[in-house]
Amino acid sequence: MAGIYIHVPFCTQRCVYCDFYFVTTATTYSPYVDALVNEIDHYGAKHISEEPIRTVYFGGGTPSLLKVADVQRILLAIENSFQLELEELTFEMNPEDGSHDYLSGLRDAGIDRLSIGVQSFYDRDLEFMNRSHNAEQAESVVETVRAAGFDNFSIDLIFGIPGQPPEYWAANLEKAARLDVPHVSTYGLTIEPETPLFKMVRNGKVTAISEEDHADQFRFTIGYMVDAGYEHYEISSFAKPGHRAVHNHAYWSHTNYLGFGPSAHSFWWRGLPARRWVNVKNLRQYEGLLSGRTTPVEMEEHLDLDTLANEHIMLRLRTEDGLDMNFLESQYGLDLYEERVDDLAWLESEGFIEPIRNNRVKLTLDGKIMADMVTSKLMIG
Ligand code: SF4
Repeated sequence: MAGIYIHVPFCTQRCVYCDFYFVTTATTYSPYVDALVNEIDHYGAKHISEEPIRTVYFGGGTPSLLKVADVQRILLAIENSFQLELEELTFEMNPEDGSHDYLSGLRDAGIDRLSIGVQSFYDRDLEFMNRSHNAEQAESVVETVRAAGFDNFSIDLIFGIPGQPPEYWAANLEKAARLDVPHVSTYGLTIEPETPLFKMVRNGKVTAISEEDHADQFRFTIGYMVDAGYEHYEISSFAKPGHRAVHNHAYWSHTNYLGFGPSAHSFWWRGLPARRWVNVKNLRQYEGLLSGRTTPVEMEEHLDLDTLANEHIMLRLRTEDGLDMNFLESQYGLDLYEERVDDLAWLESEGFIEPIRNNRVKLTLDGKIMADMVTSKLMIG
């Protein structure tokens, strides 16, 4: 079973922290949709017999800038090109796009899960991040989404915003819980190179929060959300029972996926080496190549078993189930216990991993805070 990711590279304005690929100048989305449909046809012909599609995810950028008719056209292309055994169709949206008519249209088109870029329920935070919505829209969208028939949806919230009063973060979580949002993804704000935020920090206009404060907020988040009845099933992800994300889970399990759209990544593993490829990060080039029926792939790499084993370690440690060392050995040929016995003992004695049971490595709360360090200790090579 495989997944499909659709990258929709349009935004109305640039959030200060964002390093995704998008453009803010498009006046029409038709050439992009034409190109996307061509790309879907191409891969459908290539992969249709290999694996049925279980999940589709529209990400961005801002998918909710597309018209419902565009979404229908894209979904029809997928339906015509692939064998489908769909369990989840997720659509990212911004709160200001959540009108009842639009959301009902998405629902009728087959979308059954929404991921909403709320980020904060406070105008001060939203203005700082240059988000295109306000606090009132951030809150009201939850009601509109439910009224349009979506009971499966997620909101993103960002912590570690420079200058954010400490009580705001607690209040953001409290509001998400009070609104009974079924799934919440929390992200610590990172300062990526080439972003406006990076320049603001470099020019001294903004002071990034310290690593200690960042860790404290993350620790608080986990405690608060678990107490509020959410399952902390992945480092950044909290779900009420029955609302875990299927598509994202596939990423953490090395499931095959095809990415369509400029800058989209794909991963396909049917025998070694596995392949990962990336589309051109330029909308005009992407459209031009596909109008001439030329592949828009800019980079392709082949992944050997050691590389895949390291990825598996990194991905599985992020999850509630942890890393099954028996599976790692049978599927990836790596006996981690043998390779890293001293590191495992040290991580356990320092309280970063739980005592190993059934050959499974699981992070403790401190381990989740220090997940990058733990991962680097256990990766090989
Ligand atoms: S809306 Fe999303 S993709 Fe667009 S600039 Fe903001 S964070 Fe980036």
